[in-house]
Amino acid sequence: MPHDTPLIATIVAGLGLAFVLGAIAQRLRIPPLVGYLLAGVAAGPFTPGYVADQALATELAEIGVILLMFGVGLHFSLNDLLSVRAIALPGAVVQIVVASLMGLGLALFMGWTIGAGLVFGLALSVASTVVLLRAMQERRLMDTERGRIAVGWLIVEDLAMVLALVLLPALAGLQGANSNTIPADWLASWLGMGFGGVLLLTVAKVVVFVAIMLIVGRRVIPWILHYIAHTGSRELFRLAVLAIALTVAFGSAKLFGVSLALGAFFAGMILSESALSQRAAQETLPLRDAFAVLFFVSVGMLFNPASLLREPWPLVATLFIIIVGKSVAAFLIVLAFRHPVGTALTISASLAQIGEFSFILAELGVKLNLLPTAGRDLILAGAILTIMLNPVVFAAVDWLSRRLERPPGHSGVDVVGSDARAGQVAASAKSSAAPEATQLKDHTILVGHGRVGSIVADALKKTGQPFLIIEDADDVVAKLRESNFETIVGNAARSDVLTSANLGGARYLLIAIPEAFEAGQIVQQARVANPGIRIIARAHSDAEVDHLRSLGADLIIMGEREIALGIIHNLFGWQARNPATQG
Ligand code: AMP
Repeated sequence: MPHDTPLIATIVAGLGLAFVLGAIAQRLRIPPLVGYLLAGVAAGPFTPGYVADQALATELAEIGVILLMFGVGLHFSLNDLLSVRAIALPGAVVQIVVASLMGLGLALFMGWTIGAGLVFGLALSVASTVVLLRAMQERRLMDTERGRIAVGWLIVEDLAMVLALVLLPALAGLQGANSNTIPADWLASWLGMGFGGVLLLTVAKVVVFVAIMLIVGRRVIPWILHYIAHTGSRELFRLAVLAIALTVAFGSAKLFGVSLALGAFFAGMILSESALSQRAAQETLPLRDAFAVLFFVSVGMLFNPASLLREPWPLVATLFIIIVGKSVAAFLIVLAFRHPVGTALTISASLAQIGEFSFILAELGVKLNLLPTAGRDLILAGAILTIMLNPVVFAAVDWLSRRLERPPGHSGVDVVGSDARAGQVAASAKSSAAPEATQLKDHTILVGHGRVGSIVADALKKTGQPFLIIEDADDVVAKLRESNFETIVGNAARSDVLTSANLGGARYLLIAIPEAFEAGQIVQQARVANPGIRIIARAHSDAEVDHLRSLGADLIIMGEREIALGIIHNLFGWQARNPATQG
């Protein structure tokens, strides 16, 4: 090679390997995320062959964290955040304390110091943003109450970690450990502040940051975007969104010592109040996904498989604390606040892992001579294993919530009917548990009840034929609940949702959702389950029409074509009635 290009090599190897292993994982019906982690292990220093640049990979991963949190902020308004503070704040604090105590206990048992135990416990107490958000997005939980609670909880954890990162050097000083390696906050040391002073200063900085964002950022950022939107240049708009997200995140981290993730979250949240947010969110999507993959690769790179064999028992105990200890604590807290069991289970599952913050804490702890390197290895192994096991935890929780949420002998938790069961749906709407099966036979299945599906549903209702609707948006389901439509709540691309609609016994399948890839997945499963079913699907381009046809749809209605035909039809109608206006 003419010159050394470690950045390019890291990106190419990271994305390339992740793609190959992710595709293999998908093929084996394992979440692709596991493939990305294994790609990291393969590119890491502990396995033979190519070794990517670890520092670069970690930095690239940070961009993923920024974009993800920016995206979350875009969907999150201040009101959302405030609406869950009653549970998220005490929940996160209690959970951090419980997990830290368990970690401390294990550390003391292994003969470490109290300082080491505290760092270790804290590292186990904080969940990974990326993993949690991915799990929520995959399950379409982002806009549900449980999704909001989980994200609010995460923000509180984030804030707590910001405090912890700043306070650790001061703690190291108290412990008499080697605190000279990293000076405590320079301003604090300059002022000769003690532990309490550092704490105050940190809190003050976070408060100043939030205040600046809410007062100045709230005006300036939307103004910039509106201005750019009016220039009409897409490229500039995309650039503006990206520049704002990255600059605010980076600037706030440098100036105020808050985390990159938190800075990005606030940048997004401020934008969410302006009408352009939807567009802004979409502009960052592709980049966000690519960098989120690099995050998992970089985590995988840190993993030393040999450490598993070297210290099996401490690792088992660590895993137990992360997966069982933390979950049970979170579960009880959510229940204590009188939220439904399903919500408690989802939140427990989403927090039953550790990630990026834990690495940062572990790294700092080792640098300050607080934490033995064995502690860092345990945290890394704990992180990678709990991230890999997270889908399994979710599956277990789905199974549990199916058993717990349904009273014995009751059928139809997720089926909304005209009868008195409707209210029960509230608890389980959007739950990732499989919905109950319908009793209908020789019926029509309508997927989606938006602009298209609602018109179709009204027509079907007038003719009195048997049909049901599959819909996954909470607000739409709430409306359907008030009418007499039989509804299955969930993403129709999920096989259990389709099965509960009695796909095998249905006569027609009408797919009225705009997303052709999801529609394709539905068509494909329907063809396998019921070769004779007649399928009408909706599309928005010729490519989508071809895609859906190749998967087995009988008739595909291309929206834009029908609009064109409607325009022509009406124009010619006018002209026929009033020939004078012609030519
Ligand atoms: P519209 O584009 O206005 O016709 O709305 C489409 C409707 O389909 C919305 O109400 C969505 O919530 C719903 N929808 C989209 N994707 C799915 C899916 N995979 N499963 C169930 N409902 C969906």
